Amino acid sequence: MAGQIISGKEIATQIRQELKAEVSKLKEEHDIVPGLGVILVGDDPASNSYVTAKERACENIGIYSDDNRLDAKTSQEDLLALINKMNADPKINGILVQLPLPNHIDESEVLLAIDPKKDVDGFHPMNVGKMVVGEKGFLPCTPHGIVQMILRSGVKLEGANVVIVGRSNIVGKPLANMLMQKSPTGNATVTVCHTRTKDVKAHTLKADIIVAAAGRPNTITADMVKPGAVVIDVGVNRIEDATKKNGYRLVGDVDFEPVKEKASLITPVPGGVGPMTITMLLYNTVESAKMANGLA
Ligand code: NAP
Repeated sequence: MAGQIISGKEIATQIRQELKAEVSKLKEEHDIVPGLGVILVGDDPASNSYVTAKERACENIGIYSDDNRLDAKTSQEDLLALINKMNADPKINGILVQLPLPNHIDESEVLLAIDPKKDVDGFHPMNVGKMVVGEKGFLPCTPHGIVQMILRSGVKLEGANVVIVGRSNIVGKPLANMLMQKSPTGNATVTVCHTRTKDVKAHTLKADIIVAAAGRPNTITADMVKPGAVVIDVGVNRIEDATKKNGYRLVGDVDFEPVKEKASLITPVPGGVGPMTITMLLYNTVESAKMANGLA
């Protein structure tokens, strides 16, 4: 029997409804409006559309967003000054600097300048450290969204063999850390594969849950999947498609149709992990507002 689809879109909508209710309660009971400071440097079309989607999502649930679209030639000094201003602004609970930044700007220095208490992307080393030792901090949005998708689909993580294909700082490494924590949202046995792994298939065949985060189409094919496994596809890849107006379509890292026949549950691309990422950014911003006011 073909696997069921895990709809990231539906789970994200559900979490956004919960957040909307929480935001209106914060306003009514405490006169608090969570605020997100958004900074985009330059006019990269993909970054522009991500930032627009984030601003719209804020508006939809009642989060105030302070949007700053800066010229591509903005100096590092000016960018750091804006971050410092937001660090000191009590109306701003979260700061989002859209990556990548132009080459003349030192990305790690910029991320270090964000107050860890407003680091809603969860990329500051302080929050990365807290995540590793299992302390409360901001969890990075994509892996946090994946954990939520798995749990809200009724999949048991405790004792599960999870194989993650990809070891990046934004997906693979933090996800492995979250899933191995001694916690009800972890307790899995985690294996991380990468390009130097000798036999990726030998690992994935033992997995109860496979997470594909390699950034390459067809990294996971049906022969690599144990019958009944849960398959989470993080990849977003453009492939040429002459039938489309723009000449391309988006696919994940998983060979979707054949793998769907073997999996028990599978996420689609688009409409899977993608909608969860922005949702967890909103979640972190609301949490930050609560923490700043002694409510969390
Ligand atoms: P990345 O920084 O390029 O890392 C890719 C990882 O996959 C690397 O660790 C690489 O190994 C490994 N890898 C690549 N090909 C492999 C193969 N054939 N077998 C085993 N391992 C392989 O990518 P990323 O930033 O983590 O993103 C991964 C994908 O997720 C991309 O398609 C990205 O667009 C997508 N993504 C989606 C969202 C979302 O919200 N939907 C968010 C973030 C990322 P090495 O370390 O050995 O090079």
